[in-house]
Amino acid sequence: MAETLDLSAYQEALATLMERAAAAGLRAVPVAGVSVGGCAEAIGTSRRGAFRRRAHAHNHRRDPLFGWICFLSAKPERLVTPSGRPSALLAHEYAHLLAPGSGHGERWRRAVTVLGYPSQARQR
Ligand SMILES: [Zn+2]
Ligand SMILES: [Zn+2]
Repeated sequence: MAETLDLSAYQEALATLMERAAAAGLRAVPVAGVSVGGCAEAIGTSRRGAFRRRAHAHNHRRDPLFGWICFLSAKPERLVTPSGRPSALLAHEYAHLLAPGSGHGERWRRAVTVLGYPSQARQR
């Protein structure tokens, strides 16, 4: 079942990503919320919501859930490492918020690279 992850679980990791984005001259888009165990559109229901991958970011401006990042896993450690660093998966999805409309294209690859995960850019 999808539920909102408490901000305290990922605030520090997100701040790290936002600082890296800003330092690289990208506009550090705030995250509206994080859903775990399913898509934010299914919060409060018994459904998981639509999912094709392990995670996705709502990065279309006209999406009422713009700024949400959703994880299929219910485990917060998929987002933040035990030492409090952002996971590659979280950085991957945050890069989608920084590069709306890019898919895994040039702008997205640049974003995930400046966030500190150039290996993600090479995989896609
Ligand atoms: Zn979603
Ligand atoms: Zn992606």
